[in-house]
Amino acid sequence: MNNVFTIDTEDWYHANFEDDLFTNDSNIISTVENNVDRYLELFSQNDIKATFFVLGFVVEQHPDMVRKIAEEGHEIASHGYGHQLVYKQTPEEFKEDVYRSKVLLEDCIGQEIIGYRAPSWSITEKSLWALDVLDELGFKYDSAIFPTKNFLYGIPYAPRVPHNASVYGKKNLHIITAPPSTRKIGNFNIPFSGGAYFRLFPEKLIEHFTDYVNEKEKSPVVFYLHPREIDPKQPKLKLKWKDYMIHYYGIKGCESKLIKILRKYEFVTMKEMLNL
Ligand SMILES: [Zn+2]
Repeated sequence: MNNVFTIDTEDWYHANFEDDLFTNDSNIISTVENNVDRYLELFSQNDIKATFFVLGFVVEQHPDMVRKIAEEGHEIASHGYGHQLVYKQTPEEFKEDVYRSKVLLEDCIGQEIIGYRAPSWSITEKSLWALDVLDELGFKYDSAIFPTKNFLYGIPYAPRVPHNASVYGKKNLHIITAPPSTRKIGNFNIPFSGGAYFRLFPEKLIEHFTDYVNEKEKSPVVFYLHPREIDPKQPKLKLKWKDYMIHYYGIKGCESKLIKILRKYEFVTMKEMLNL
């Protein structure tokens, strides 16, 4: 079974806990290149091609890094330009943000960009109009709807496998949604394959859930991490206790967990998994 590894390619300070937290300031020290280099090394050692959802702001600051990712055979997709939550923008602002990132990325690597992931999975019931905008801009897939529910994101009834927009009452769109993976237990979809969940859960549990989704449900698992999640030495944001835990818990042990997952499973890019 082929799984998918994805990296939301942004800097250590891109976060959405509070509106005024992050700032796109090129004078702030950046850690993204060093962290991405480490991922590229790990992917190369394990002969894995991944999908990198790159922020437009990051491609402006680090074009050579983005070209290097593409040259090594990984897929480049869009993470928008400015890391604003989709549901806090108007459709017009969202369109401008995503279009800007698509053009920057396409100019940088000379290839069409067909995939999009929203900052903090922020396509929710409040912002399903975003699917129309993405379709109009020529995106063929999004990975932006989390089939769960928490304080920041999620549509609990969203399908757990790739699906088209007719699920949301949109009949004429071509865009496919490829969600991050969950393990369904009773009425709950439990996230496990990325971010804070990946850092929090023991690796045996992540493997157990992955095996279940692969073997029993015959579905690929979509993993996701950020560059900063394997970097214990990164500068730290001043966050409230709960947000701090979500943002930083388990970073020390994350890389060794990642290495075991990369060694154990097979991976293709999102584009390949979706046959696009
Ligand atoms: Zn992000």
